[in-house]
Amino acid sequence: DYPKDCPPDVEELGRSTWTFLHSVAAYYPSVASEEERRSALKLVESLARLYPCQSCAEALREELKREKAEGGWEEKSLVLGKAVERGVDFRRWLCGIHNEVNERLGKPKFDCSEELLRKRWKDGWDDGRCDG
Ligand code: FAD
Repeated sequence: DYPKDCPPDVEELGRSTWTFLHSVAAYYPSVASEEERRSALKLVESLARLYPCQSCAEALREELKREKAEGGWEEKSLVLGKAVERGVDFRRWLCGIHNEVNERLGKPKFDCSEELLRKRWKDGWDDGRCDG
């Protein structure tokens, strides 16, 4: 195993970043203010510029560009600019973008239902294994 006090590799960086992003989304307001919307948008756009894995950042930039041109998830309607208006949509949008990366890497897709996202990133699972 890679020692814990060494710089993160692409996997570790990815896991930590997804943890941060899905946690932000889990606590994002049901209806976001103008300022919160702008901040969420900036957060994702900054990631697409500054994420310290060049090819990952570039893939995200391409994805955002494609989305602007062609439309987003769910019958091509859930684009980031719209998704940041509501927590439920922002969570689903983020899940969709994470699934795009999963697909590219041959990893399984995650079920983007609000219920599963809430259990994974906020409330924990019904069997209590996340309690305590
Ligand atoms: P991760 O994909 O890190 O996921 C962590 C946990 O999130 C999972 O265990 C699961 O419980 C949960 N999860 C999985 N999918 C979803 C979802 N759709 N919605 C909500 N929760 C979910 N790596 C590369 O090699 N090439 C790349 O181009 C690349 N691009 C990346 C772009 C971004 C923006 C980020 C943040 C990371 C990128 N990575 C890339 C890293 C990659 O996505 C993984 O983080 C890394 O491979 C470790 O994978 P993992 O199996 O531990 O799970």
